[in-house]
Amino acid sequence: MHVRSRWVAMVLALSAGMVMMQAHAVVPVLVIHGGAGVIKRDMDPATQKAIRAKLREALEHGYAQLKAGKPALDAVTAAITVLEDDPHFNAGKGAVFTHEGTNEMDAAIMDGSTLRAGAVADVGHVKNPILLARAVMEHSPHVMLAGQGAETFAREQGIPLVDASYFRTEYRWQQLQKALKRDRLGQHQDEEAEGHFGTVGAVALDTHGHLAAGTSTGGMTDKRWGRIGDSPIIGAGTYANAGCAVSGTGWGEFYIRTVAAHAICMRVAVMHEPLKQAADEVINREIPKLGGDGGAIVLGADGSFAMPFNTSGMFRGWIGADGVPHVAIFADEHP
Ligand code: ASP
Repeated sequence: MHVRSRWVAMVLALSAGMVMMQAHAVVPVLVIHGGAGVIKRDMDPATQKAIRAKLREALEHGYAQLKAGKPALDAVTAAITVLEDDPHFNAGKGAVFTHEGTNEMDAAIMDGSTLRAGAVADVGHVKNPILLARAVMEHSPHVMLAGQGAETFAREQGIPLVDASYFRTEYRWQQLQKALKRDRLGQHQDEEAEGHFGTVGAVALDTHGHLAAGTSTGGMTDKRWGRIGDSPIIGAGTYANAGCAVSGTGWGEFYIRTVAAHAICMRVAVMHEPLKQAADEVINREIPKLGGDGGAIVLGADGSFAMPFNTSGMFRGWIGADGVPHVAIFADEHP
């Protein structure tokens, strides 16, 4: 090779290397929630400790994927499966009961860089609904599957199915009994006090600068008539695009009516609102104005994030450059 062309080739190789380094220079971030609601301060210390430990475990498990250069989708899936397997959260094992005493779970996942999405609703035997949502996205021509059809697809995909009794916890059963008693007495369900908390979600930014979001839930205690909440509805409880990823938790009907997750991302993309402001507008103004409540986790492609909520607490946490998991439960904690 001519000396000059060798020199040119060397400069080109060096600059290509720098571009590649830049492409891999994004510092990954993972943010999770374990549900918003009234979380009592007198929750016994052992339960609090166990929940905080599980949030940390989910963050570490998810972040290991990001550190290994894996896609944001892998971090979201890894973090959520840890929480689905833990009985403290209203997702997978420990899901809340329907009016009829069954567990009907919903989940969704979305890849921000491609806008691909997968969701499942009303599944009663899928051990980890988030894995089925991901399979719907990756191995079916559809976005959302429900009920028996979703479980047939799970079987075909080799996604673990379990007996319905696997999901049962005494705590959630007693929650249903209280709700049924209120129904019998004709008392209005105080959603704020009892209805929801424990849904799980994750948003992640990977080393390639790609975002993903996922949410998994048992829905709301005492739900009836095949009710489906916001979590599996793309744009309501779960959404991700190239600039913003959201997972919501709260009174789902209001998240559907405000198309909450999509609304937050559109405020960022179209109205150029700072991420925190956009999240605050939807979660702390639009939703309460209609009578709803809850929270969300929101992550931007620049690594900035917000965790707004208007309930007395939200199980939540994040992990970034230093690799140290930060977790919190109550409103006055700043993780
Ligand atoms: N948003 C969920 C639902 O309405 C419940 C929750 O977040 O706790 O199904």
